[in-house]
Formats: sequence, structure tokens, C-alpha cells
Amino acid sequence: MSKIISGKEIAQDLRNKLKKEISELKNKTGKVPGLAVVQVGNVAASSVYVKAKTKSAIEVGIEVIDHHLPEETTEAELLKIVGNLNNQNNVNGILVQLPLPKHINEQLVLDSIHPDKDADGFHPLNVGKLSIASHNDENLLIPCTPYGCLIMLKGLGVNLSGKNAIVIGRSNIVGKPMAQLLLKESCTVTIAHSRTKNIEEICKNADIVVAAVGRPKMVKGDWIKKGAIIIDVGINRITIEVEGEIKNKLVGDVDFDEASKNSSAITPVPGGVGPMTIACLLRNTTIAFKNKNR
Ligand code: NDP
Repeated sequence: MSKIISGKEIAQDLRNKLKKEISELKNKTGKVPGLAVVQVGNVAASSVYVKAKTKSAIEVGIEVIDHHLPEETTEAELLKIVGNLNNQNNVNGILVQLPLPKHINEQLVLDSIHPDKDADGFHPLNVGKLSIASHNDENLLIPCTPYGCLIMLKGLGVNLSGKNAIVIGRSNIVGKPMAQLLLKESCTVTIAHSRTKNIEEICKNADIVVAAVGRPKMVKGDWIKKGAIIIDVGINRITIEVEGEIKNKLVGDVDFDEASKNSSAITPVPGGVGPMTIACLLRNTTIAFKNKNR
């Protein structure tokens, strides 16, 4: 029987620890970490994420500086706002919610965030530091989703060293940094993507499977080696028919029911990686605050 890894519970533990730490930092410095949350436009999913991130941040004692800008905001205007936040003393972390409207160059905006305030860990300097650092340094600002995955893996108490890991997906925000983190844990890492041949065969040899693809239930039960650990990053909305009614359902990139028959541990969707991503954003903001107030 596969263990279900509850991201919800692990994220709650992390938030409790952060809340305590922030209260201690407040007593010591008279200040609390500040997170600027910038949203441009009204993409429904973005609004849901921003709301969840804001709520969690306030709960642990982080001050949220909210910038909800209209869809028509120009690239120059947005860059100016980010520039001001870079210079604002009460702002330790800056989060620009993606996707941005098509007329704005996302990478340009992400690159304009001061690396010390890079709450998402996407700035090229932080990406470089993650790649160079020989171990997972406590002061690094690391992309939230893959770091959340790593915390869940480590929480299992399994020795990761020497394990075969496959990361399916090579995006800058999940796949690539996930591979870096696993490499630092001395896993032997394969990164698979849309051009990879025989993913199924590579997967069958993996002790750890991280799926970050965005394709509902792509990873099948018979791709999974007996005893493998599965981290399912995917969030896919599908429609199903229940008693003649069409309903929406969230599913991962892994066929949970089938894969959990072979795995030793697996994350559910929802309630797995999602909550960890938000908790790690709060962690990064707190680290940025500590780095500044050392
Ligand atoms: P991207 O679309 O940026 O990347 C998807 C990756 O999957 C690409 O590298 C692509 O390959 C690869 N891919 C696509 N089709 C296949 C295929 N048939 N076989 C193998 N690889 C394939 O997605 P993200 O990394 O941003 O997100 C991935 C998933 O994770 C999504 O479902 C997203 O919603 C979810 N997500 C969840 C988060 C959470 O907090 N739980 C946070 C972030 C993302 P190629 O590069 O060749 O195109």
C-alpha cells in the first residue's frame, strides 16, 4: 500500500515553523518580512493563486504589499513599479504573478527584480547560484515548487543518494531546478521532455519520479517500478461525467489510482505539491529578510 504524502500537512508544519520564526525576528529586529505581490490583469487562476498566497503570508505574520494593476499596464510602467519595490525598505520579497499579459516581456520583468528580493527564485543570478552551490545552502532563494517537492522527498527519511530519478518536464520554474536539487542530493538524474524517446522505459528504471508536464494522467501505472516514490506536480482541470452530470476535476500528470499500486509513496492532486509551493514562497521571503537583517 502506497503512502500518500500529504503536502497539506507538511506545508502546515512549515508555516507553523515560519510563524514562530517571524515572531522571534519581530521581537529581535522590530520588523517583519514584507512581500510585494504584483498581479497584472484578471486571469482567474492568477487571482486564485494571489489570494491563496496573500492569505498564507498574512497568517504567518508577513506584511503583504499588494499591487493589482490593470491589464493595460505597459511594460515600462510595470518595470518602474518593480524598480520602486526594489528600493523600498519594507519589501523583502517581490512576487510577480505569471502569466503576464502578452504585450509584456516576462523574462525582462523577472530579470528586473533585485536578486536579493527574488521571492520566486527565478532571477538568473539565483538560478546560477542554485546550479553552482554544492549543497542546498539555507540562504539560497530556490524556486518554490521544486523546493517543496524536495522537502516532501526528504520528509520520507529515505536516503536519496545514488537513487535513479527521472524528472519529466524541463521548464525553468519546475523541471530544471528540480533536477538541480536532486543532483545535489546525489541522485542520478534524467530529465525527460517532449522529444525524449522511450520515457516509459526510463521511468520503469526510476526510484524517484517527478512529473511536471501538464498532461492529465500521462504517467501510467505500469511505468512505475515497484517501490518507487512519485511526486506529481501537474495540475490539470478535466471534466468527468458523474451520474449524467458533467463536473470539473483536478488531476495530476500521473494516473494516481494505477501508479499508487506500485509506488511506495505518492503525492495526491490536489493536496500534494500545491500547498508546498506557497509555503516555500513564504520561506523564501523570510530568508530574504534574514539575509538583509543579519
Ligand atoms: P511547462 O508547460 O512550462 O513545461 C512542461 C514540460 O513538459 C516541458 O518541458 C515539455 O517539454 C514537457 N512535455 C510536454 N509534453 C510532454 C510529453 N508528451 N512527454 C514528455 N514531456 C512533455 O509547464 P510547467 O513546468 O510550468 O508546469 C508543469 C505542470 O505542473 C503543469 O500542470 C502546471 O500546472 C503544474 N504546476 C504546478 C505547480 C504547483 O504548485 N503544484 C506549480 C507550477 C506548475 P518541451 O520542453 O520539450 O516542450
